[in-house]
Amino acid sequence: MELGIAGRRALVCASSKGLGRGCAEALAAEGVELILNARSADTLEVTAEEIRAVHGVPVTTVAADITSPQGREQVLDHAGTVDILVNNAGGPPPGNWRDWDRADFIAAFDANAYAAIALMQACVPGMCDRGWGRVVNITSVSVKQPIGVLGLSNTARAALTGFVAGIARDVAAQGVVINNLLPGLHATDRTVGLDAYEASLTGEPAAEVTARRHTTIPARRYGTTAEFGAACAFMCSSHAGFMIGQNVLLDGGAFNSTL
Ligand code: NAP
Repeated sequence: MELGIAGRRALVCASSKGLGRGCAEALAAEGVELILNARSADTLEVTAEEIRAVHGVPVTTVAADITSPQGREQVLDHAGTVDILVNNAGGPPPGNWRDWDRADFIAAFDANAYAAIALMQACVPGMCDRGWGRVVNITSVSVKQPIGVLGLSNTARAALTGFVAGIARDVAAQGVVINNLLPGLHATDRTVGLDAYEASLTGEPAAEVTARRHTTIPARRYGTTAEFGAACAFMCSSHAGFMIGQNVLLDGGAFNSTL
């Protein structure tokens, strides 16, 4: 399917690896010009070079912490016109709810709610003026189904989900489409780290934790970053104009429900 977004410009946050990179690659495959961001400049540049080589699209890189006001300012200074915004940042650390204090919650909110809100505030008005825009916020299955050790994620992402429900409907008439994409378990560094954390709690080898977690998913495997990126690219496409304020779950069937 031709997605109708060749020549558009996309800012993809936290995109040197994992799900963000999957989204960047899928957009590049459609001829979208990219602004990529991550903190580590070296890894980011390697990713950018690989995407330029494979897809032949212009790729600008901005090494900055997207969860800080200074980092966002740096990214926006380089971004220019943004037609497509993919919001993403690293997830909060796992832990026990008894141990988290106010600073932990504020940090999680800054990373997994406010960074996306601030970037929407910066980019969406221009999209409205131009009459076309797409925003995909990478959130988590944790907004539908709480994850015990990820209480900070459960909390912060619920806040972002509430904000998006309102803003998406407010700007839909101006051609701006805002949705959330909810990953279940995908094969990325983040999941390797969480499997290792669970192994440290249970005493199992990490590989056994991974194998056991595969069995909890009807698809019997973790998702791939390419599958995730393809879903994101569709949500950024010209065909997604009637998809407003949705929370799209991509989890191999792990969330057990009829609707
Ligand atoms: P990942 O493989 O660890 O990749 C994270 C990417 O984000 C890297 O490119 C990293 O580069 C960048 N990044 C992290 N913190 C950043 C920051 N403050 N500013 C700019 N860039 C930053 O993680 P992932 O699995 O793709 O996860 C992406 C998001 O989806 C996370 O919020 C995660 O919690 C959520 N999620 C993932 C899964 C899953 O199964 N993978 C499931 C549910 C939710 P640098 O380290 O160089 O900055």
